[in-house]
Amino acid sequence: MADVSVVEVSPRDGLQNEKTLLPTAAKLDLISRLVNAGATRIEAVSFAHPRLVPAMADAEAVMAGVPRVPGVSYAGLVLNRRGLDRAVASGVDEVNFVVCVSDTFSRRNQNMSTGDSMRSAIEVVAAARERGLFTTITLATAFGCPFEGEIDPAAVIALAVEAYRGGVDEIALADTVGVGVPTQVRHLVEAIRAETGDHVALRCHFHNTRNTGFANALAAVDAGVTVLDASAGGIGGCPFAPAATGNIATDDLVYLLERMGMRTGIELGTLLPTAQFLTERLGYQVPALLPRAGRFP
Ligand code: ZN
Repeated sequence: MADVSVVEVSPRDGLQNEKTLLPTAAKLDLISRLVNAGATRIEAVSFAHPRLVPAMADAEAVMAGVPRVPGVSYAGLVLNRRGLDRAVASGVDEVNFVVCVSDTFSRRNQNMSTGDSMRSAIEVVAAARERGLFTTITLATAFGCPFEGEIDPAAVIALAVEAYRGGVDEIALADTVGVGVPTQVRHLVEAIRAETGDHVALRCHFHNTRNTGFANALAAVDAGVTVLDASAGGIGGCPFAPAATGNIATDDLVYLLERMGMRTGIELGTLLPTAQFLTERLGYQVPALLPRAGRFP
């Protein structure tokens, strides 16, 4: 039993934001490596429209090829009802709906207001739960927006409460563009917990764009969050900060948590060669530091 469980998002958030498009077989190689290293929740694909997210156009083929291992759950990212239908047909175990807290980001990214997006997400959550799928609503741009700047924490809290009342299994707070700091994390997690109690799972999603990702992850754990997103090798970049690093690296996060005495279920010795694999496939040195520095002692 893990003290902090890691949702491996490298196949989805990682590869989606990389310039190099990997063929389906290489994605399946990556996913197998993650499963072998002990990952039990893997965000494998996105069911966004292939024209908008070409890197995820092979979502069905990826899901058809993933290793089916007892205890391993595969998630697909979904933006609407059509995405849910594709997700169900492909055999995912979980669906992750994204609602952007920033109305400007929502209109640009999903072509609808934040309010309409949440109403749609709650409808789709109900439909997904009827099919026995685990459901997450991710509140994107919860810590800041590239268009609107600061995001009012009250807006994030109100949306979290709406998602909770809508019956979702898990709420994820996402620092989509990597601008958040630990004080924001603590405030948001505590304020949402005060409204929802322990009746809904809380998960956090950080990017290390400005080197605050790991501090944010620890702040989330200190505030009681037990589910963190991370990507092997720290791949993923950020479309709004072209030179930026990606998601917090699973390698470095697991090292940090395990050295502090927390179990994650990820076996670092098995995971570490994945960074070299990704470096070769993507054609640049991936951001994770542990694969370069080595383990200790
Ligand atoms: Zn992300």
